Amino acid sequence: MTTIPKTQKVILFEETSQDLSVLQYKDFPVPEISADEILIKNKYAGVNFIEAYFRSGLYPSKTPYVLGREASGVVVAKGDNVTKFKVGDKVAYLSPSTFAQYTKVDGTTGIRILKLKDDASEEDLKLFGSVLVQALTALTFVYEPYNVKSGDFILIHAAAGGVGQLLTQLAASKGAKVIATASTDAKLQIAKELGASFLINSSTEDIVEKVKEFTNGVGVNAVYDGIGKATFEASFESLAPKGTFVSFGNASGAVPPFSISRLAPKNIAILRPQLFGYTNTPETWEKYSKELLGLLSDGKLKFSITKVYSLKDYPKAAQELESRATTGKLTLEIPQ
Ligand code: NDP
Repeated sequence: MTTIPKTQKVILFEETSQDLSVLQYKDFPVPEISADEILIKNKYAGVNFIEAYFRSGLYPSKTPYVLGREASGVVVAKGDNVTKFKVGDKVAYLSPSTFAQYTKVDGTTGIRILKLKDDASEEDLKLFGSVLVQALTALTFVYEPYNVKSGDFILIHAAAGGVGQLLTQLAASKGAKVIATASTDAKLQIAKELGASFLINSSTEDIVEKVKEFTNGVGVNAVYDGIGKATFEASFESLAPKGTFVSFGNASGAVPPFSISRLAPKNIAILRPQLFGYTNTPETWEKYSKELLGLLSDGKLKFSITKVYSLKDYPKAAQELESRATTGKLTLEIPQ
């Protein structure tokens, strides 16, 4: 029987700022669970760009705000109404407040919680505590906001980043011709190895011109843009008639308001999807998480964790991610 302490270490902020100095590694109460909840003792928690949006105030939050969006760990307590999980189960899951030793989540529906095998290794916990946000985003996005088809030209920005690497592989595996952008040639090389057919160095080349060149002047069938403000115009201009704009993030800042009539000349469709909206029922969670497990175990989807930081060093990870110094995934090891 695990003894559950009253306090734990977490990463939180009490005031929003672009500056990393507002991040605190602090003692914080361990959450108490209701009859519908489970308490998870975390082992690994993946780092995602969304944490920057909460810290900067771009996304609203109630402070003190404990960061984190995904983790893996072991169930250490459960409410009376929970039948799908038992104490001792190893799990990986999506939830707020995972940059913490303990996180509580609803345990009644099983949505956004993946039960791992009893003999799941340390490496499994590391992988599944880090892969869910980015891989399920990429997986749902190549079907739902736009269903990537064989022969499509697909423009993917930040293609060597966390989501970008996965989008590149999934779009290429569906037979699309991926045009990858990244800010360095080293990053572009990664995208090429993962299946990109055409490469654009966004620091030195004109995205719209290169897309025209690669598509014989027609443009792309869809663009996946997680960069936001800095690439919005280039993404828009790069679309073919009847193209689809999937705007899914703000790494460079939020997309400014624009007039809907801009969609008319080329009959453009534009979406601003969230992963959560595609995994909010037991059926959709089951479908996509199962498909992801299959892709990972068959070696059809490569996921690269480039560095593991300890929880207290999250500010270093954030600095690296936000300064465009990373490729693939950073993850946090949670002290036990
Ligand atoms: P990444 O690993 O992709 O890191 C962000 C990348 O964006 C950088 O490496 C950099 O690549 C590029 N970039 C361009 N301009 C800037 C800038 N000014 N500052 C920082 N980075 C910049 O991060 P993630 O994989 O975690 O996330 C990618 C995007 O996907 C984010 O916008 C994130 O919010 C979004 N996302 C959205 C989800 C949703 O449900 N809608 C779910 C998950 C992620 P380069 O140097 O090559 O340009």
